[in-house]
Amino acid sequence: MPPFTGADFLRLDEVFSDEERLARDTVREFVTKEFLPRIQEHVRRDGSFPMELVAPMAELGLFGANLEGHGCAGMNNVAYGLVMQELERGDSGLRSFASVQGSLVMYPIHAMGSDAQKERWLPELAAGRAIGCFGLTEPDFGSHASGMRTRAERKGSSWVLNGTKRWITNGTLADVAVVWARTEDGIRGFLVEKDRPGFETADMKGKFSLRASVTSELFLQDVEVPDENRLPGAEGMKGPLSCLTQARYGIAWGAIGAAVACYEEALEYSREREVQGGPLAGKQLTQEKLVFMITEITKAQLLALRVAQIKDAGALHHSMVSMIKRNNVDIACQIARMARDLLGANGIVDDYQAMRHMVNLETVRTYEGTHDVHTLILGEHITGHRAI
Ligand SMILES: Cc1cc2nc3c(=O)[nH]c(=O)nc-3n(C[C@H](O)[C@H](O)[C@H](O)COP(=O)(O)OP(=O)(O)OC[C@H]3O[C@@H](n4cnc5c(N)ncnc54)[C@H](O)[C@@H]3O)c2cc1C
Repeated sequence: MPPFTGADFLRLDEVFSDEERLARDTVREFVTKEFLPRIQEHVRRDGSFPMELVAPMAELGLFGANLEGHGCAGMNNVAYGLVMQELERGDSGLRSFASVQGSLVMYPIHAMGSDAQKERWLPELAAGRAIGCFGLTEPDFGSHASGMRTRAERKGSSWVLNGTKRWITNGTLADVAVVWARTEDGIRGFLVEKDRPGFETADMKGKFSLRASVTSELFLQDVEVPDENRLPGAEGMKGPLSCLTQARYGIAWGAIGAAVACYEEALEYSREREVQGGPLAGKQLTQEKLVFMITEITKAQLLALRVAQIKDAGALHHSMVSMIKRNNVDIACQIARMARDLLGANGIVDDYQAMRHMVNLETVRTYEGTHDVHTLILGEHITGHRAI
């Protein structure tokens, strides 16, 4: 594989600070040296993540990287975005691991948890000594998660949880699950430790996509947790939705990384592949594809950078995140497919990256708000008419 240089057509490197470039370059090197040599083996083994990389990832500050305090790296949102981009250049499963741990588990504890919850969990999660998962989706409720059937009922100073969560990243690996459940006062979030009686998990097998990521079901049968395990600051659907805004922000950057990996691979391949007496890169149709790729990547970088600046200024609106998640994942899907096409038959084997990214991106298009659901969120935002 040729050395990765990044696709920086509009010289955005000049806009990034030294710290931002350092964060990016450090993760880039980690992904190249430590992750990429391992990915083929883990993709072939459905649902296996290279757990030996959790400690080095924690050392690099990759868990909860844009949170302050409790052992978190406290990066700004540009550096954080660049980190997510580099992780997903490796694989969407690698970025998903960091996104779930940071945005979907550490963020709700950081933003909505009690002091005791923060002290108990955040340093452990930041250090990778504890793994977390986020249980919102159910077998019958994905996009419309507010219809959830999982219930939490008061029992003295405790809560009793019953229900099933499905499609939960890292469910069987997790020491603690953030479980969203319906109570008589509305949706609430609970921290459920893995050894609570009545709490079971199982891996989901047979995925074509995100194979190097663990996806699980959570089963809760009369699981009792004390009231101290309820997230005191989480009331209603805005609790889980605020976590999703954080995670979707990282996904919008991550998708650029997957797209760049495919673009670089297709560019390199088409320079070397001879067709009809000349390089594939010398054909007009190839150049049209490569020009589409680098133009869309550059536009996606600019969108993500601007939203990062707005987020750092504290003026983020969730519709902005919907726009960049929807757009950047969509162009990454198109670019991955074009790259796979340019590689011909070689494009279907795992010696090359394009098809792995292509099928991964199908998950990324679906989770954290589907492409169509983000269309409807944006549609409502600009027209004032709710069409969901
Ligand atoms: C690998 C993987 C990992 C995941 N990890 C997690 C996790 O860690 N935690 C978690 O809680 N969840 C997780 N999910 C679940 C994910 O968030 C859901 O799959 C997603 O929200 C979509 O829900 P669904 O699959 O039920 O699809 P549905 O909601 O049934 O959607 C099916 C189709 O209907 C469309 N649709 C939905 N509503 C409308 C509408 N109103 N109008 C028009 N079209 C509509 C959708 O766009 C889609 O095309 C994961 C999923 C995958 C695949």
